[in-house]
Amino acid sequence: MPCRSPPDKGWTLRYDFLEKQLGRAVATTLISNIGEFFTGDIKSPTADVSSLLIEDEQIKTLNPPEDVACDTAIDAESCAVLPGLVDGHIHPVFGEWTPAQDSIGWITNYMHGGSTTMISASELHTPGLDYENLTADLVTSLAEVARATTGRIRWGGVKVHAGTCLLVPGMNESHFDRLADAGAILTKFIFFPLEDNKEEAIRYTEWARGLRTKVHTGGVSRSGSSRVCGFETLKWLQPDIAAHVSGGPIPMSDEDLDLLVDNTEFALEICSSNNYRSTYLVTQRLKELGRLDRMTMGTDTPGGTGVIPRGMLRNILFLSSICEISPGEAIAVATGNTAKAHGLDVGILEEGAPADLVSAGPVKGSAGETLSDAIAHGDLPGISFVIIDGKVIVETRSEQTPPPMQIAHFIDSPGCPFC
Ligand SMILES: [Zn+2]
Repeated sequence: MPCRSPPDKGWTLRYDFLEKQLGRAVATTLISNIGEFFTGDIKSPTADVSSLLIEDEQIKTLNPPEDVACDTAIDAESCAVLPGLVDGHIHPVFGEWTPAQDSIGWITNYMHGGSTTMISASELHTPGLDYENLTADLVTSLAEVARATTGRIRWGGVKVHAGTCLLVPGMNESHFDRLADAGAILTKFIFFPLEDNKEEAIRYTEWARGLRTKVHTGGVSRSGSSRVCGFETLKWLQPDIAAHVSGGPIPMSDEDLDLLVDNTEFALEICSSNNYRSTYLVTQRLKELGRLDRMTMGTDTPGGTGVIPRGMLRNILFLSSICEISPGEAIAVATGNTAKAHGLDVGILEEGAPADLVSAGPVKGSAGETLSDAIAHGDLPGISFVIIDGKVIVETRSEQTPPPMQIAHFIDSPGCPFC
Protein backbone atom coordinates (compact mmCIF):
# COMPACT_ATOMS: atom_id res chain seq x y z
CA MET A 1 0.00 0.00 0.00
CA PRO A 2 1.44 3.40 -0.90
CA CYS A 3 2.54 5.71 1.88
CA ARG A 4 1.42 9.31 1.99
CA SER A 5 3.91 11.54 0.22
CA PRO A 6 5.48 14.45 2.13
CA PRO A 7 3.41 17.64 1.98
CA ASP A 8 4.72 20.30 -0.38
CA LYS A 9 5.28 22.76 2.41
CA GLY A 10 7.70 20.34 4.00
CA TRP A 11 6.39 20.80 7.51
CA THR A 12 3.10 21.46 9.19
CA LEU A 13 2.07 22.68 12.58
CA ARG A 14 -0.64 20.38 13.83
CA TYR A 15 -0.95 21.29 17.49
CA ASP A 16 -4.57 22.16 18.04
CA PHE A 17 -5.90 22.68 21.53
CA LEU A 18 -9.47 22.91 20.27
CA GLU A 19 -9.11 19.44 18.83
CA LYS A 20 -8.23 18.18 22.28
CA GLN A 21 -11.05 20.05 23.96
CA LEU A 22 -13.55 18.63 21.49
CA GLY A 23 -12.36 15.14 22.23
CA ARG A 24 -11.07 14.48 18.74
CA ALA A 25 -7.46 14.03 19.82
CA VAL A 26 -5.56 11.16 18.22
CA ALA A 27 -5.79 8.30 20.66
CA THR A 28 -2.95 6.01 19.59
CA THR A 29 0.11 6.51 17.41
CA LEU A 30 2.51 3.76 16.41
CA ILE A 31 6.08 4.61 15.39
CA SER A 32 7.76 1.67 13.70
CA ASN A 33 11.01 0.99 11.87
CA ILE A 34 13.09 2.95 14.39
CA GLY A 35 16.81 2.71 13.63
CA GLU A 36 18.36 3.97 16.87
CA PHE A 37 16.60 4.63 20.16
CA PHE A 38 17.93 7.09 22.73
CA THR A 39 16.37 6.82 26.18
CA GLY A 40 17.52 10.12 27.71
CA ASP A 41 18.69 8.13 30.74
CA ILE A 42 22.41 8.75 31.39
CA LYS A 43 22.71 5.32 33.05
CA SER A 44 21.65 3.51 29.88
CA PRO A 45 21.41 6.06 27.05
CA THR A 46 20.42 3.69 24.23
CA ALA A 47 18.04 0.74 24.06
CA ASP A 48 17.00 -1.94 21.62
CA VAL A 49 13.66 -0.41 20.66
CA SER A 50 12.41 -0.59 17.07
CA SER A 51 8.83 0.55 17.60
CA LEU A 52 6.72 2.31 20.20
CA LEU A 53 3.05 2.94 20.83
CA ILE A 54 1.77 6.29 22.09
CA GLU A 55 -1.62 6.41 23.80
CA ASP A 56 -3.00 9.91 24.29
CA GLU A 57 -0.20 11.89 25.92
CA GLN A 58 2.02 9.06 27.08
CA ILE A 59 4.26 6.31 25.80
CA LYS A 60 2.15 3.23 26.27
CA THR A 61 4.45 0.42 25.09
CA LEU A 62 8.00 0.02 23.83
CA ASN A 63 8.32 -2.72 21.18
CA PRO A 64 4.57 -3.48 21.05
CA PRO A 65 3.31 -6.60 19.22
CA GLU A 66 3.59 -6.29 15.43
CA ASP A 67 -0.18 -6.46 14.95
CA VAL A 68 -1.03 -3.81 17.55
CA ALA A 69 -3.94 -1.58 16.50
CA CYS A 70 -3.44 2.18 16.20
CA ASP A 71 -5.16 5.30 14.85
CA THR A 72 -2.04 6.78 13.28
CA ALA A 73 1.10 5.04 12.06
CA ILE A 74 4.48 6.60 11.38
CA ASP A 75 7.31 4.82 9.55
CA ALA A 76 10.58 6.15 11.04
CA GLU A 77 12.48 4.94 7.95
CA SER A 78 15.33 3.73 10.18
CA CYS A 79 15.78 7.21 11.64
CA ALA A 80 16.56 7.64 15.30
CA VAL A 81 14.05 8.49 18.01
CA LEU A 82 15.21 10.55 20.98
CA PRO A 83 13.47 12.48 23.76
CA GLY A 84 12.44 16.05 23.00
CA LEU A 85 15.29 18.31 24.09
CA VAL A 86 15.00 20.16 27.40
CA ASP A 87 16.50 23.65 27.20
CA GLY A 88 17.24 24.30 30.86
CA HIS A 89 18.17 27.96 30.49
CA ILE A 90 16.14 30.42 28.43
CA HIS A 91 15.26 34.07 28.96
CA PRO A 92 11.70 34.71 27.77
CA VAL A 93 9.96 38.06 28.17
CA PHE A 94 6.52 38.16 26.61
CA GLY A 95 5.39 35.14 24.60
CA GLU A 96 7.54 34.59 21.54
CA TRP A 97 8.85 38.14 21.46
CA THR A 98 12.33 38.82 22.78
CA PRO A 99 13.69 42.33 23.12
CA ALA A 100 17.17 40.85 23.64
CA GLN A 101 17.59 40.43 19.88
CA ASP A 102 14.45 42.17 18.62
CA SER A 103 12.94 38.98 17.25
CA ILE A 104 9.62 37.20 17.36
CA GLY A 105 8.63 33.56 16.97
CA TRP A 106 11.78 32.29 18.64
CA ILE A 107 10.15 29.57 20.78
CA THR A 108 8.53 27.88 17.77
CA ASN A 109 11.84 28.12 15.90
CA TYR A 110 13.64 26.44 18.81
CA MET A 111 10.99 23.71 18.76
CA HIS A 112 11.98 23.05 15.14
CA GLY A 113 15.50 22.58 16.54
CA GLY A 114 14.20 19.75 18.73
CA SER A 115 13.39 21.54 22.00
CA THR A 116 10.06 20.48 23.51
CA THR A 117 10.55 21.82 27.05
CA MET A 118 12.17 25.10 28.09
CA ILE A 119 12.88 26.47 31.54
CA SER A 120 13.20 30.17 32.22
CA ALA A 121 16.30 31.33 34.04
CA SER A 122 14.44 34.59 34.75
CA GLU A 123 12.67 37.22 32.69
CA LEU A 124 15.49 39.70 33.20
CA HIS A 125 15.28 41.17 29.69
CA THR A 126 11.97 42.85 30.49
CA PRO A 127 12.39 46.35 29.02
CA GLY A 128 13.16 49.07 31.52
CA LEU A 129 13.92 46.78 34.43
CA ASP A 130 16.24 48.63 36.84
CA TYR A 131 18.62 45.93 38.06
CA GLU A 132 20.05 48.21 40.75
CA ASN A 133 16.70 48.91 42.37
CA LEU A 134 14.74 45.66 42.34
CA THR A 135 12.34 45.17 45.23
CA ALA A 136 10.92 41.97 46.67
CA ASP A 137 7.41 42.84 45.50
CA LEU A 138 8.55 43.81 42.02
CA VAL A 139 10.53 40.61 41.34
CA THR A 140 7.73 38.46 42.73
CA SER A 141 5.13 40.27 40.61
CA LEU A 142 7.33 39.99 37.53
CA ALA A 143 7.55 36.22 37.97
CA GLU A 144 3.78 35.98 38.54
CA VAL A 145 3.08 37.94 35.37
CA ALA A 146 5.50 35.82 33.31
CA ARG A 147 3.92 32.65 34.64
CA ALA A 148 0.40 33.93 33.91
CA THR A 149 1.24 35.07 30.37
CA THR A 150 4.21 33.43 28.61
CA GLY A 151 4.02 30.38 30.87
CA ARG A 152 0.32 29.82 30.28
CA ILE A 153 0.44 29.16 26.55
CA ARG A 154 2.06 26.33 24.61
CA TRP A 155 4.01 28.50 22.16
CA GLY A 156 4.75 26.20 19.23
CA GLY A 157 3.48 23.37 21.44
CA VAL A 158 6.51 23.78 23.73
CA LYS A 159 6.24 23.32 27.49
CA VAL A 160 7.62 26.67 28.66
CA HIS A 161 8.24 26.98 32.39
CA ALA A 162 8.29 30.74 32.81
CA GLY A 163 8.16 32.83 35.99
CA THR A 164 11.61 32.35 37.51
CA CYS A 165 12.01 34.97 40.20
CA LEU A 166 15.12 37.18 40.37
CA LEU A 167 15.85 36.80 44.07
CA VAL A 168 16.70 40.02 45.92
CA PRO A 169 17.29 40.86 49.60
CA GLY A 170 14.21 41.65 51.64
CA MET A 171 11.97 38.79 50.57
CA ASN A 172 9.94 36.89 53.13
CA GLU A 173 8.12 33.57 53.09
CA SER A 174 4.97 35.14 51.68
CA HIS A 175 6.87 36.00 48.49
CA PHE A 176 7.85 32.35 48.09
CA ASP A 177 4.24 31.35 48.80
CA ARG A 178 3.14 33.63 45.96
CA LEU A 179 5.69 32.05 43.61
CA ALA A 180 4.59 28.54 44.54
CA ASP A 181 0.92 29.50 44.12
CA ALA A 182 1.71 30.86 40.66
CA GLY A 183 3.16 27.46 39.70
CA ALA A 184 6.78 28.57 39.39
CA ILE A 185 9.36 25.78 39.51
CA LEU A 186 12.57 27.76 39.85
CA THR A 187 14.14 30.83 41.48
CA LYS A 188 17.37 32.53 40.50
CA PHE A 189 20.26 34.21 42.30
CA ILE A 190 21.97 36.61 39.90
CA PHE A 191 21.74 40.16 41.24
CA PHE A 192 21.62 39.10 44.90
CA PRO A 193 24.80 40.16 46.81
CA LEU A 194 25.42 36.65 48.11
CA GLU A 195 28.62 37.24 50.07
CA ASP A 196 27.06 40.20 51.91
CA ASN A 197 23.84 38.39 52.82
CA LYS A 198 24.80 34.76 53.45
CA GLU A 199 22.22 33.99 56.12
CA GLU A 200 19.41 35.50 54.11
CA ALA A 201 20.46 33.59 50.98
CA ILE A 202 20.59 30.28 52.84
CA ARG A 203 17.16 31.00 54.30
CA TYR A 204 15.88 31.50 50.75
CA THR A 205 17.23 28.12 49.62
CA GLU A 206 15.37 26.55 52.54
CA TRP A 207 12.13 28.38 51.81
CA ALA A 208 12.47 27.65 48.13
CA ARG A 209 12.99 23.92 48.41
CA GLY A 210 9.58 23.28 46.94
CA LEU A 211 10.74 25.36 43.99
CA ARG A 212 14.41 24.98 43.03
CA THR A 213 17.27 27.42 43.14
CA LYS A 214 19.66 28.26 40.33
CA VAL A 215 22.59 30.63 40.65
CA HIS A 216 24.47 32.64 38.06
CA THR A 217 28.13 31.58 38.15
CA GLY A 218 31.33 33.02 36.71
CA GLY A 219 31.95 36.62 35.73
CA VAL A 220 29.58 39.48 35.10
CA SER A 221 26.76 38.97 32.58
CA ARG A 222 25.55 41.25 29.80
CA SER A 223 23.45 43.13 32.34
CA GLY A 224 26.63 44.41 33.99
CA SER A 225 24.85 44.01 37.33
CA SER A 226 25.23 40.31 38.08
CA ARG A 227 27.52 39.18 40.88
CA VAL A 228 30.73 37.24 40.30
CA CYS A 229 30.30 33.74 41.70
CA GLY A 230 32.81 30.91 42.02
CA PHE A 231 33.48 27.90 44.22
CA GLU A 232 33.83 29.85 47.49
CA THR A 233 30.23 31.06 47.20
CA LEU A 234 28.76 27.89 45.74
CA LYS A 235 30.16 25.66 48.47
CA TRP A 236 28.09 27.34 51.18
CA LEU A 237 25.09 28.32 49.06
CA GLN A 238 24.45 24.77 47.81
CA PRO A 239 21.94 25.66 45.06
CA ASP A 240 20.08 22.95 43.18
CA ILE A 241 21.72 23.99 39.92
CA ALA A 242 24.85 26.05 39.27
CA ALA A 243 24.08 27.85 36.01
CA HIS A 244 26.49 27.87 33.07
CA VAL A 245 29.50 26.73 35.09
CA SER A 246 31.70 26.82 31.98
CA GLY A 247 30.74 30.38 31.10
CA GLY A 248 27.67 32.46 30.63
CA PRO A 249 29.53 34.13 29.09
CA ILE A 250 32.55 34.34 31.46
CA PRO A 251 33.50 31.12 33.29
CA MET A 252 34.91 30.80 36.78
CA SER A 253 38.64 30.00 36.98
CA ASP A 254 39.92 26.55 36.01
CA GLU A 255 40.84 25.95 39.66
CA ASP A 256 37.35 26.84 40.85
CA LEU A 257 35.80 24.58 38.23
CA ASP A 258 37.89 21.63 39.44
CA LEU A 259 37.01 22.34 43.07
CA LEU A 260 33.34 22.59 42.15
CA VAL A 261 33.33 19.20 40.43
CA ASP A 262 35.35 17.52 43.16
CA ASN A 263 33.65 18.95 46.25
CA THR A 264 29.94 19.41 45.52
CA GLU A 265 27.04 17.21 44.46
CA PHE A 266 24.50 19.57 42.84
CA ALA A 267 23.75 19.90 39.12
CA LEU A 268 26.25 21.70 36.89
CA GLU A 269 24.83 23.37 33.81
CA ILE A 270 26.56 24.11 30.52
CA CYS A 271 25.15 26.60 28.04
CA SER A 272 25.55 27.86 24.48
CA SER A 273 26.97 31.08 25.90
CA ASN A 274 29.92 29.05 27.19
CA ASN A 275 33.66 29.24 27.02
CA TYR A 276 34.33 26.12 24.90
CA ARG A 277 37.60 25.37 26.61
CA SER A 278 36.00 25.42 30.07
CA THR A 279 33.23 23.13 28.84
CA TYR A 280 35.86 20.68 27.65
CA LEU A 281 37.59 20.79 31.06
CA VAL A 282 34.44 20.31 33.14
CA THR A 283 33.22 17.50 30.90
CA GLN A 284 36.53 15.65 31.18
CA ARG A 285 36.55 15.97 34.96
CA LEU A 286 32.95 14.80 35.38
CA LYS A 287 33.64 11.92 33.01
CA GLU A 288 36.75 10.86 34.94
CA LEU A 289 34.74 10.79 38.16
CA GLY A 290 31.81 8.94 36.55
CA ARG A 291 29.51 11.89 37.35
CA LEU A 292 28.09 12.90 33.97
CA ASP A 293 24.71 12.51 35.71
CA ARG A 294 25.37 15.96 37.27
CA MET A 295 25.64 17.74 33.94
CA THR A 296 22.64 19.68 32.58
CA MET A 297 22.24 21.80 29.47
CA GLY A 298 20.65 24.99 28.20
CA THR A 299 21.21 27.66 25.62
CA ASP A 300 21.14 30.75 27.89
CA THR A 301 19.34 32.54 25.07
CA PRO A 302 17.81 34.78 23.81
CA GLY A 303 20.57 37.10 24.94
CA GLY A 304 23.91 38.45 23.85
CA THR A 305 24.77 35.03 22.39
CA GLY A 306 21.79 35.42 20.08
CA VAL A 307 18.63 33.55 19.17
CA ILE A 308 19.76 30.00 18.36
CA PRO A 309 17.05 27.57 17.21
CA ARG A 310 19.65 24.81 16.80
CA GLY A 311 21.51 25.74 20.00
CA MET A 312 20.68 22.58 21.95
CA LEU A 313 21.65 20.38 19.01
CA ARG A 314 24.95 22.24 18.66
CA ASN A 315 25.68 21.75 22.36
CA ILE A 316 25.11 18.01 21.95
CA LEU A 317 27.47 17.97 18.97
CA PHE A 318 30.17 19.81 20.91
CA LEU A 319 29.91 17.48 23.90
CA SER A 320 30.18 14.39 21.75
CA SER A 321 32.56 15.34 18.94
CA ILE A 322 35.00 17.50 20.97
CA CYS A 323 34.45 16.67 24.65
CA GLU A 324 34.59 12.93 23.95
CA ILE A 325 31.39 11.62 25.49
CA SER A 326 29.13 9.25 23.60
CA PRO A 327 26.22 10.57 21.48
CA GLY A 328 23.79 8.81 23.83
CA GLU A 329 25.34 10.44 26.89
CA ALA A 330 25.30 13.88 25.25
CA ILE A 331 21.59 13.43 24.40
CA ALA A 332 20.90 12.29 27.98
CA VAL A 333 22.55 15.46 29.32
CA ALA A 334 20.24 17.51 27.07
CA THR A 335 17.11 15.60 28.09
CA GLY A 336 16.81 13.34 31.14
CA ASN A 337 19.56 15.01 33.19
CA THR A 338 18.22 18.52 32.65
CA ALA A 339 14.61 17.54 33.29
CA LYS A 340 15.47 15.69 36.49
CA ALA A 341 17.53 18.58 37.89
CA HIS A 342 14.49 20.87 37.44
CA GLY A 343 12.02 18.35 38.88
CA LEU A 344 10.24 17.67 35.56
CA ASP A 345 8.80 14.37 34.35
CA VAL A 346 9.96 14.77 30.72
CA GLY A 347 13.26 13.86 29.05
CA ILE A 348 13.15 10.06 29.45
CA LEU A 349 11.54 7.73 26.92
CA GLU A 350 10.00 4.88 28.89
CA GLU A 351 6.57 3.35 29.26
CA GLY A 352 4.27 5.77 31.08
CA ALA A 353 6.41 8.82 30.33
CA PRO A 354 5.11 11.89 28.46
CA ALA A 355 5.32 11.26 24.71
CA ASP A 356 7.69 14.14 23.94
CA LEU A 357 10.05 12.92 21.25
CA VAL A 358 11.97 13.77 18.12
CA SER A 359 12.74 11.70 15.04
CA ALA A 360 16.08 12.58 13.43
CA GLY A 361 18.82 11.20 11.23
CA PRO A 362 22.02 12.17 9.43
CA VAL A 363 21.76 14.79 6.71
CA LYS A 364 22.76 13.91 3.13
CA GLY A 365 26.52 14.38 2.84
CA SER A 366 27.05 13.85 6.58
CA ALA A 367 29.60 11.40 8.01
CA GLY A 368 28.27 7.92 8.69
CA GLU A 369 24.90 6.36 8.26
CA THR A 370 23.32 6.77 11.68
CA LEU A 371 22.45 9.65 13.97
CA SER A 372 25.19 8.44 16.32
CA ASP A 373 27.75 8.59 13.50
CA ALA A 374 26.71 12.14 12.63
CA ILE A 375 26.72 13.38 16.24
CA ALA A 376 30.09 11.78 17.03
CA HIS A 377 31.48 13.53 13.94
CA GLY A 378 29.92 16.85 15.01
CA ASP A 379 27.45 17.00 12.11
CA LEU A 380 24.05 18.64 12.63
CA PRO A 381 21.21 16.09 12.48
CA GLY A 382 18.11 16.52 10.34
CA ILE A 383 14.78 16.44 12.21
CA SER A 384 11.67 14.98 10.61
CA PHE A 385 9.10 14.69 13.41
CA VAL A 386 8.54 16.51 16.69
CA ILE A 387 5.87 15.08 18.97
CA ILE A 388 4.77 16.71 22.25
CA ASP A 389 2.36 15.02 24.65
CA GLY A 390 1.54 12.55 21.88
CA LYS A 391 0.63 15.31 19.41
CA VAL A 392 2.48 15.58 16.13
CA ILE A 393 3.74 19.18 16.05
CA VAL A 394 6.20 18.86 13.18
CA GLU A 395 5.58 16.25 10.51
CA THR A 396 7.95 15.08 7.82
CA ARG A 397 10.59 17.75 8.27
CA SER A 398 11.76 20.60 10.48
CA GLU A 399 11.84 24.21 9.38
CA GLN A 400 15.21 24.74 11.03
CA THR A 401 17.34 21.75 10.06
CA PRO A 402 18.23 20.24 6.70
CA PRO A 403 16.13 17.14 5.97
CA PRO A 404 17.54 13.83 7.15
CA MET A 405 18.63 11.37 4.44
CA GLN A 406 15.75 9.08 5.33
CA ILE A 407 12.54 10.94 6.08
CA ALA A 408 10.06 9.52 8.56
CA HIS A 409 6.48 9.74 7.30
CA PHE A 410 2.89 8.79 8.00
CA ILE A 411 1.64 5.44 6.81
CA ASP A 412 -1.77 5.57 5.17
CA SER A 413 -2.96 2.29 6.54
CA PRO A 414 -3.28 2.56 10.30
CA GLY A 415 -2.70 -0.69 12.11
CA CYS A 416 -0.33 -1.96 9.49
CA PRO A 417 3.23 -0.75 10.14
CA PHE A 418 4.58 -2.91 7.37
CA CYS A 419 2.59 -1.61 4.40
ZN1 LIG B 1 21.09 33.42 31.66
